[in-house]
Amino acid sequence: MTIAQKLSFDVQLSDHARTAAEREQVMANPGFGQVFTDHMITIDYTDGEGWHDARLRPYGPLSLDPATSVFHYGQELFEGLKAYRQGNGSIVAFRPYANAARFNRSAVRMAMPELPEETFVESLDLLVRTEQDWVPTTEGHSLYLRPFIIATQIGLGVNYPSRTYTYLVIASPAASYFAGGVKPVSVWLSTEYTRAAPGGTGAAKCGGNYAAAFVAQREAVEQGCDQVVWLDAHEHRYVEEMGGMNLFFVFGDKLVTPALTGTLLPGITRDSILALAADLGLETEERLISTDEWQAGCESGELTEVFACGTAAVVTPVGSVKGADRAWTVGDGTPGPVTMRVREELVGIQYGARPDTHNWIHKIV
Ligand SMILES: *Cc1c(COP(=O)(O)O)cnc(C)c1O
Repeated sequence: MTIAQKLSFDVQLSDHARTAAEREQVMANPGFGQVFTDHMITIDYTDGEGWHDARLRPYGPLSLDPATSVFHYGQELFEGLKAYRQGNGSIVAFRPYANAARFNRSAVRMAMPELPEETFVESLDLLVRTEQDWVPTTEGHSLYLRPFIIATQIGLGVNYPSRTYTYLVIASPAASYFAGGVKPVSVWLSTEYTRAAPGGTGAAKCGGNYAAAFVAQREAVEQGCDQVVWLDAHEHRYVEEMGGMNLFFVFGDKLVTPALTGTLLPGITRDSILALAADLGLETEERLISTDEWQAGCESGELTEVFACGTAAVVTPVGSVKGADRAWTVGDGTPGPVTMRVREELVGIQYGARPDTHNWIHKIV
């Protein structure tokens, strides 16, 4: 249910915000998702009343009854996007309305209320404007924004979704996601575990998908790999995603990416790369791609590069693949030219070094 009402945000500034010196110390080496700014957004929702009490307030712990629904039944979902400081000093977000739309698609699947897209984007704008000194100036760094929504009804009844929710946005200055820059990752093909099945929640950005994935990610690490690659639930033959990122396969000057069958998360980075490809003289194709085709393509030399993409790590080359009874290298195992060109174009648009011909940049400051 979308309730079209104009919310105005009540602003309560922190009286213990960090000093410039403290902030600079934190931002010198922020890591990813480790440190948070001084404020956050909260908006409450009640069935019948709709969204209310929109607030910018000091960052801090939430006080929730132990019987709150989210702790027991996991009714939660999130988004992830970044604010970038461009060369001219302005601060921008990349396609925030696409995140707003996906947030609402996830909400529908999780029986949660939709938030007007304008309110979603306004909440980001307000937080980023307030925290603009937290947007890093270091190249490749950004302010990572994490909007999310939790079910807050108290009680253990399972027959009906929560009638109350809280939407929040927190912000975290971030270096690159994978420490050590653009370095090819090794992947483990998971045939024991499945991320998503038809009719399930694979296309929704809900925390439960991640909770169910940790065991496979741990298995990948035990197998000496960096990341897990998910295959289709039915046959464990077709490639779906890598951890929390989408995948692209480079066949010469054609980019192939797994089709959105309903079990993949529709990445905004994936969608952007499909749109950018034509600008770079690359063809695109969305279809099924099997692990057999992946291996055979690498062995014949037809499949020259593979990369993963997502907001957090942008574009990351895949260097080698390991499965229960096989292993192979992609190309010569180093980052390929198409991967690096796509990465450079996307990062260039985000940081303002390349023209924004697709109108993706949303100026905040
Ligand atoms: C968020 C996410 C992605 C990438 O989406 P972007 O919008 O590109 O950041 C891919 N796969 C999963 C499972 C995700 O949660």
